[in-house]
Amino acid sequence: MQSVFRVLVVEDELKVASFIKKGLEDYGLEASVAMDASTAKKRLQTEPFDVIILDVNLPQISGLELCQQLREEGCLVPVLILTAMGQVENKLAGFDAGADDYLVKPFDFSELLARLRALNRRSALSGGSTSRLLRAADLVLNLDDRSVVRAGKRIELTARELKLLEVLLANQGRAMSRAEISQKVWDMAFDSGTNVVDVYINYLRKKIDRNFSPPLIQTLTGIGYMLKAEN
Ligand code: CA
Repeated sequence: MQSVFRVLVVEDELKVASFIKKGLEDYGLEASVAMDASTAKKRLQTEPFDVIILDVNLPQISGLELCQQLREEGCLVPVLILTAMGQVENKLAGFDAGADDYLVKPFDFSELLARLRALNRRSALSGGSTSRLLRAADLVLNLDDRSVVRAGKRIELTARELKLLEVLLANQGRAMSRAEISQKVWDMAFDSGTNVVDVYINYLRKKIDRNFSPPLIQTLTGIGYMLKAEN
């Protein structure tokens, strides 16, 4: 039985990208193409993928740089580098950048498929799927191990701060009243006289926003708060 999974193909040569996409789809996999690194990043922030096929020679940001950035930002999606550069030092550079596998062009399609399946299986076993990550800009909350990373730095939060961050991330881009936040985080609506929500928002800000840019938590006067990553 063949399990369906989603592959992001990062490749700037249209012919090669279409060939890979079509080949994957013929085998029942879902495939999307991003032709440069910034497009790939945007897709990864908003859609779940199980495996990334990554070319090295890309315009602006190289595949290796992209791979390194993704790892620094906490992205755990397995990366298979697919390139014409087959020297040992090229491969080592790929693995140093955080890649999980390396295949040299020209390649045999059945070998590519076998490697993708192996990566997907390993990732599923370790629970490393994008669907378990909440992210905004360079901040990532991993729901599996409850870790928080911003700009590659691990941030320690208390259980309540973590819950607050989870609620804000799950509702990002949406204005939330203090009553709604307290209902979701504390399971009760506080009297309007208490400032518990504001106190915890301040705790959280000190940890996730103070030493980073841009700030993610916004105060909406007369309404409440909103977590938003500006583009
Ligand atoms: Ca290329």
